[in-house]
Amino acid sequence: MESKENKEKSTYLFGPVPSRRLGLSLGVDLVPFKTCSLDCVYCQLGRDTTEKTTKRKEYVPIELVLGELKKKIDDGLNADFITLSGSGEPTLNLKLGELIDEIKKITNIPVAVLTNGTLLIDKGVRAACAKADVVLPSLDAGDEETFQKINRPHSDVNIEKLVKGLCAFRKEFDGQIWLEVFLLDGFNTEPEQIAKIRKLVELIEPDKIQLNTAVRLTTQSGIKKLNAAKMQAIAGQFGEKCEVIADFSPQKQDKKIQTKAEDVLSMLKRRPCSLDDICAGLGISRNEAIKYISYFQNNGAVDSEKKGQIVFFKATNRQ
Ligand code: SF4
Repeated sequence: MESKENKEKSTYLFGPVPSRRLGLSLGVDLVPFKTCSLDCVYCQLGRDTTEKTTKRKEYVPIELVLGELKKKIDDGLNADFITLSGSGEPTLNLKLGELIDEIKKITNIPVAVLTNGTLLIDKGVRAACAKADVVLPSLDAGDEETFQKINRPHSDVNIEKLVKGLCAFRKEFDGQIWLEVFLLDGFNTEPEQIAKIRKLVELIEPDKIQLNTAVRLTTQSGIKKLNAAKMQAIAGQFGEKCEVIADFSPQKQDKKIQTKAEDVLSMLKRRPCSLDDICAGLGISRNEAIKYISYFQNNGAVDSEKKGQIVFFKATNRQ
């Protein structure tokens, strides 16, 4: 049983949390908040990518990540996957391959990499990802124009390189590739768009195609989810390897999210709080807290101000 003390000390780990794609998943955060090569319109991490980059470096010290992981495993970690993901693009961390090697030495729990795939054009990134058991890249567009609209990439990134990297990776990797396609009504769901995406998927040859849509809180206005029936119809066009992973059921999870979001807002109505105050006060991870704050900032219900080095969030009277 994991001690409360260890839970509180985790800076780079979150969970284990139930995941539709990976079962019980322990998340490992390998980059600082929203450091990414893309700035997707549906991103749940906030309105703008804080650092849009393709530069690989050791953003987060791997020694410290490993230290936390070892503790977690010693405390009897129960998870289906250790998932390298977090608050940005994990392949930007230059030590990704080394980290996977080290994880493999201390546990048999399979390793997954949740990536936007844009860096797979780099041989070193492919070699690092190939050490994992499952790689879950994304492809949301069938042409450059749609890619720019949805994924708003760094200037070094384009769809041709993305697909080229994914195809090269497929040739070099014997493990599982589960390709996520995020469908947004009005962006990439017209028959012509779907046909283009299908063509690219045929080239990439993933083991699974997983269709998702914006069923959870999103931080951008004008983002519309596709309904369940349309999702299923499109899944049919992709064939038997395709499944819908978006969860449309009015389930407990949504209720829980709603309740937590309300808790955050009512806390901020009482007094301005830092991110750490919110996490400690409500017992939630930084990632989760950021998601709620971004949502409220987007609809004008929460504002922020910096005092010294610390950012404080407070409720406005615009709710
Ligand atoms: S790739 Fe992921 S983290 Fe990066 S902007 Fe898109 S959704 Fe957000």
